[in-house]
Formats: sequence, structure tokens, C-alpha cells
Amino acid sequence: MKRIGVLTSGGDAPGMNAAIRAVVRKAIYHDIEVYGIKYGYQGLMEGNIEKMEIGSVGDIIHRGGTIIYSARSEEFKTDAGQEKGIEQLKKFGIEGLIIIGGDGSFRGAQKLTEKGYPCIGIPGTIDNDIAGTDFTIGFDTALNTIIEAIDKVRDTATSHKRTYIIEVMGRDAGDLALWAGLADGAESILIPEVKDEFDEVIERLKRGHDRGKKHSIIVLAEGVGSGFDYGKRIEETTDLETRVTVLGYIQRGGSPTASDRVLASRLGGYAVDLLRKGEAGRMVGIQNNKLVNHDILEILAQPHTIDKDMYQLSKELSI
Ligand code: ADP
Repeated sequence: MKRIGVLTSGGDAPGMNAAIRAVVRKAIYHDIEVYGIKYGYQGLMEGNIEKMEIGSVGDIIHRGGTIIYSARSEEFKTDAGQEKGIEQLKKFGIEGLIIIGGDGSFRGAQKLTEKGYPCIGIPGTIDNDIAGTDFTIGFDTALNTIIEAIDKVRDTATSHKRTYIIEVMGRDAGDLALWAGLADGAESILIPEVKDEFDEVIERLKRGHDRGKKHSIIVLAEGVGSGFDYGKRIEETTDLETRVTVLGYIQRGGSPTASDRVLASRLGGYAVDLLRKGEAGRMVGIQNNKLVNHDILEILAQPHTIDKDMYQLSKELSI
């Protein structure tokens, strides 16, 4: 393989730049040319493609976002859209593609692979909602951003007798909420993988209140519903005052943590290795600190799961 392309797609995540850098440098090291495709599949269909050099990825390892930008494209979900993309790949002489993104992006990668263009997927999303890898690029950074924010809420919380609800991202996955809740000693963690435990949450709040606890922190995953609705429900059921903080897009930004930079570099390098070996339709990941690769179709068919033991532990620690 003499020429490959790289694109970032779907929601961006801190560490994507470190992955792009690894792909570009590793490929060039092995005498493979790399083309950066801007704005994901949208840019692919439009031919928004530029050659990348060693220098084009200088000074980006520590930056959030993605220097080749990301986008969502409905058109690419159609056969006609994919054919348009393939025309551009042919025009630029690109023989293989590395796609950094989430499960939606991997569906696109699978379609291209089926149409004869070898693709390798790198999991880049703060949600950590992809099977076949213990961690996705961006999760650790987002988690640390959440922790920092909750620590600050905790400072003001100790000054008032209130219940604080922190709504965090994660789409349909509760990993960010679970890890953040455990790391921050939250009283309750509400995640979509576990059915509504409203009565239990109220019980715990009341117990804490009776014990003279000054405040309570509840971490709620966006997949469960709105923090404001939950707060209202608590106020209607108890005489507790609630305050809601929706962390929003700050969770997607910021300089990637060391863990995310290392993960992104390893996965980026490994993805290039797989293309060089002639692999296609694979997703790279990390399991038990070992680099692994899986069939994309198998990964997409697997439901996301959370660590049930960790969830149980969080409950036992917040009695
Ligand atoms: P993420 O990759 O973060 O899950 P999306 O689900 O929005 O984000 O997917 C990103 C892009 O991947 C979509 O906008 C679309 O262009 C492409 N994509 C998603 N699903 C498919 C599909 N079934 N076939 C082809 N392309 C797809």
C-alpha cells in the first residue's frame, strides 16, 4: 500500500489529534503517503482532501478537537453517497482508509470495506460506548473534566444544604457517569443501563439528610433523561432543595490527558500496521492493556455493557 487516507467523523473527542499524528508519522516512516480528508465523510464526497506531511501534524499532540475537522453526513448513508466517496478515493489514488470516530462512523467504514476499500476504525469518542475496547480515545479526558467540575460544585455545595444533580454526557452509555460518580464519591449514580431506582435514590437522600449531611451529589447520565426533570421529581417527593448543573460541551474539549495521548498514539500506529498487512474492516482497541483488533461488523452487533461490579461498589461506598 502506497497511499492511505485518514478522517475523523461524528462527535469529536480529545486525543483525536494525537491519533491523526500517529497515523501520519507511522505511515510516512514506512514510506506510505497520507492524505487528510477534511470534515469526515462529507469532505470525502466533496473531495476535500489534502496531502499531509510530517510537519502538518507538528504541535498538535496536546490539542483538543481535530485538525482535519469532523462532520455528520446523511448523504453518506446512501449508496449514491458512498459511490461519490469512492470516486474521490480513486481520483486521489487512496488505497486504504483510517477512520477515527464512533459506531456510526464505523458503519460507514464497513460500507466502504464491502465496496472494496479497506478501512480500519479507531474508536474516538468520549462516551466509551464501543464494544471490543476497554477505553475509547477521549473518555479519560472527559472524565477528568467532569471530576474537576464536580469538585468545584462540591466546594459550593458544602456551603448550602442542597441536593446537587450533575448531568453528564455519554449518549446511551453510562460509563462517564459511573466513573465520575465513583471518582467523586457521589451519593447516587443514575445510568441508562440500570432501571430507574428513584425510590432508592430518595431513601438514600433522606437517610443522609437525617444523619445531618450537608449536601448530596447525584451524577446523572444524559441517557437517563433531563437533570432538571429529575430535580423537579425530587423536589415534588421531598422537601429537599435541588440544584442542577448540565456540564454540556465542556466535556468534549480540552487538552487530552496523558492516558488519552498514549492510547491515541498506540491505536493510530497499530491501525497503520493493520492496513500494511492487508487487513480490512477491522476496529482497533485496547483490552487488558494489549492492542487488539476485531471485525467491525461483530463490534457493531455487540451491545454496550457497563461494569456491574463497579456499579455495585459505587453503591456500597455511598451508604
Ligand atoms: P459517531 O461516529 O460518533 O457514532 P454518527 O453516528 O453521527 O457519529 O456517525 C457519523 C457519520 O458516519 C454519519 O454522519 C454518517 O455520515 C456515517 N454513518 C453513520 N451510519 C452510517 C451507515 N449506516 N452507513 C454509512 N455511513 C454511516
